[in-house]
Amino acid sequence: MNILLVGSGGREHALAWRLAQSPTTDTLFAAPGNPGIAQHARIAELDVDDHRAVIDFVRRHQIGLVVIGPEAPLVKGLADNIRAIGVPVFGPGREAARLEGSKGFTKDLCARVGIPTARYFRTTTRDGALACLDDFGEACVIKADGLAAGKGVVVAATRAEAEAAIRDLYAQGPVEAVIEERLEGPEASLFVLSDGTSIASFGSAQDHKRVGEGDTGPNTGGMGAYSPAHELTPELEQRALGEIVRPTIDALAAAGTPYVGVLYAGLMLTADGPKLIEYNVRFGDPECQVLMARYDGDLAALLLAVAAGRLADEPAPEFRDEAALTVVMAARGYPGTPETGGAIHGIDAAEATGAVVFQAGTAARDGAIVAAGGRVLAVTATGADVAAAQEAAYHAVDAIDFPTGFCRRDIGWRATR
Ligand code: ATP
Repeated sequence: MNILLVGSGGREHALAWRLAQSPTTDTLFAAPGNPGIAQHARIAELDVDDHRAVIDFVRRHQIGLVVIGPEAPLVKGLADNIRAIGVPVFGPGREAARLEGSKGFTKDLCARVGIPTARYFRTTTRDGALACLDDFGEACVIKADGLAAGKGVVVAATRAEAEAAIRDLYAQGPVEAVIEERLEGPEASLFVLSDGTSIASFGSAQDHKRVGEGDTGPNTGGMGAYSPAHELTPELEQRALGEIVRPTIDALAAAGTPYVGVLYAGLMLTADGPKLIEYNVRFGDPECQVLMARYDGDLAALLLAVAAGRLADEPAPEFRDEAALTVVMAARGYPGTPETGGAIHGIDAAEATGAVVFQAGTAARDGAIVAAGGRVLAVTATGADVAAAQEAAYHAVDAIDFPTGFCRRDIGWRATR
């Protein structure tokens, strides 16, 4: 089977790496891809925003499965348009992708079917937002609706902070806001495959959103991750699957907009059990890198079964009984303006240690790899436990010569302290 993979990040490099190893894969194409992905796939010269061009490519190259990595093309309906010509797609349609695209949509769905999540209030006015603060006590969370890449959320510890956040938000213009009760507890990410009706757990991971060590400083797309998430015990995972994910998949199926792909549930493990913080409609980046490092099966066959509505016939996805940990190496300046063009050497030496180096914001220049984005590499290793995977990952990081880059030195600290 020929496969088209859409995306250009470290997540897609990890998917390409595993898809290329699948006996089910004949030719793997990727668009837009990156130099790391090009080691495993043929780069297709395609504008993925031009859906007609993508469909034309799919027909011409007899693509049997399209795998869409990032959320933006999903929210724009790329999956619907390809499915319309009868080709299986791993990734939800536009309507189901609203689980990530609109916080209000997700909160209303949770309320309708009784999914455990923070109490909330939706409003489009500043005065409405300020007035609802009486219902939330001192601490609350203020979120702007729509895709905001983690930048639209303020976790306020006091009423004064909440009021300031609301005034700031509405000073930027009209916006829909969701105000939530502030939940307490450790966070964990659960990944679940769904073919529209059947579901299968695809494991858990723990991300590290803040740029600085000890989880300090501004939010980023993610500075590292490990899998499995040690705090999400098998019992809590079963509860999250039954109380949160199952009713979500059922509600979307009943609405005629079935969810096909991977659903990423951001959970808070509260004293009352797991509660939903947010959904994403794709693999996390860099969580995908650690899941792929542990996954032990024919990925192309599994993703096809999801896309073709045959997940129930598949054995449960199997993972190596090891931990995986990834360290993101970013360009200086990230998450502000990253310094691009910096030379990177030593990827081969890092991989000679047994690690895998996934590329995100890289470019090939005169036969060498240079930084071309904020998050540049995801150095990924496995080990008997998180501590062993951490040691192996940093051993590989130390083999990389990237003078204009930096990384956190404490990925995995919660699990190893
Ligand atoms: P991202 O996709 O980067 O995670 P986002 O814009 O989708 O961000 P959320 O995931 O909803 O926003 O929130 C970002 C972070 O804020 C969460 O990971 C969590 O740490 C914190 N947070 C969100 N909602 C709550 C809540 N109700 N109580 C406590 N903390 C919360």
